[in-house]
Amino acid sequence: MPKVLLTGGSGFIAAHVLDILLKKGYEVVTTVRSETKASQIRAKYPGAKLSVAIVPDIAAPNAFDSVIAGEPGIDYVQHTASPFHFNWKDARTELLDPAIEGTNSVLRAIKKHAPGVKRVVLTSSFAAIITEADLTNPNKTFSEADWNPSTYEDGLKGPPPTSYRVSKTYAEKTAWDFVKNEKPGFDLATICPPMVFGPVAHHLDSLSGINTSNARIADLIQGKWKTGIPPSGVYLWVDVRDVANAHVSAMEIPEAGGQRFFTTAGYYDNVQIAKVVRAAYPDLADKLPTDATPVAKGGSLPEEGAYKYDNSRATKVLGIDWIPLEKSVADTVETLLTIPA
Ligand code: NDP
Repeated sequence: MPKVLLTGGSGFIAAHVLDILLKKGYEVVTTVRSETKASQIRAKYPGAKLSVAIVPDIAAPNAFDSVIAGEPGIDYVQHTASPFHFNWKDARTELLDPAIEGTNSVLRAIKKHAPGVKRVVLTSSFAAIITEADLTNPNKTFSEADWNPSTYEDGLKGPPPTSYRVSKTYAEKTAWDFVKNEKPGFDLATICPPMVFGPVAHHLDSLSGINTSNARIADLIQGKWKTGIPPSGVYLWVDVRDVANAHVSAMEIPEAGGQRFFTTAGYYDNVQIAKVVRAAYPDLADKLPTDATPVAKGGSLPEEGAYKYDNSRATKVLGIDWIPLEKSVADTVETLLTIPA
């Protein structure tokens, strides 16, 4: 079976990608930042065709060279590692550099040391599609044709959501530019999910370390919405299992090469999430908001309607039958309840 390099294997989305790759029989090399994370992954898959390598800092020059040079025969690369949190102090060194230089260095290392790589799949984001001003425009339809117009300087200035969106936009642009200018032996497919919910498959010692996009569901079941339902954010979502399948399908399906994929299941809002959890987990009632709980502006979809989306390319080319919100949220809670607070 072909050999796949998966960067950031300790992450929320990557753990599902790793699961699928190993179940399908691929040989996998995954990178993580520390020996602790490497041991956790090795312990989860005893006897698997899996090796785990340490890349402590993806923003360092030539960060991936030794791992890629030391693993002959790589056929595909899934590059998921990139910061998705708002706990940084310096946007350039802690957010933009790992996202953009990390992408650059993995692509350069492949070109130099892994001539057999046929395709790279990059985890991009809806963040690389949006125009912030259109997030309140019900007449706008977002699709793969759209690019976030924010500049690198906007990313340096913030606010933090803008900085994150710029990190994803510039990382994805870096990858498309690399393929166009360097003409390597591989092509590229990018996956652009909005807010990703779903069961936790990566190692997590405590709910305090929950990944950014599932944090709202962890907050909800810990009673943090009892006195008020917070704003929803972007109103579009997708289940992590659909995102992971999209990564693997985009690697396997020939016509996926050269394309971006806007992978969204559709709309959600926080009021709906709270309702789903109330219905599926009556035992949690004392921790959850009720119909009488105040809802912040943006906690429910706007009455005039939200911006529109076109997910037809991902549906057709990648063949995704989108997991519904009810299942996704209920399955998320099931895994979160097994993790200590
Ligand atoms: P996680 O935080 O769980 O995963 C991020 C991964 O990137 C982890 O493996 C993390 O390593 C690694 N990483 C972060 N910063 C660095 C760094 N400076 N150096 C090396 N590795 C680093 O989040 P997700 O799984 O959600 O994110 C995975 C990808 O998906 C990211 O590219 C993110 O931008 C993208 N994405 C996520 C969405 C979501 O809603 N979840 C939506 C759209 C895109 P470690 O485990 O050591 O922290």
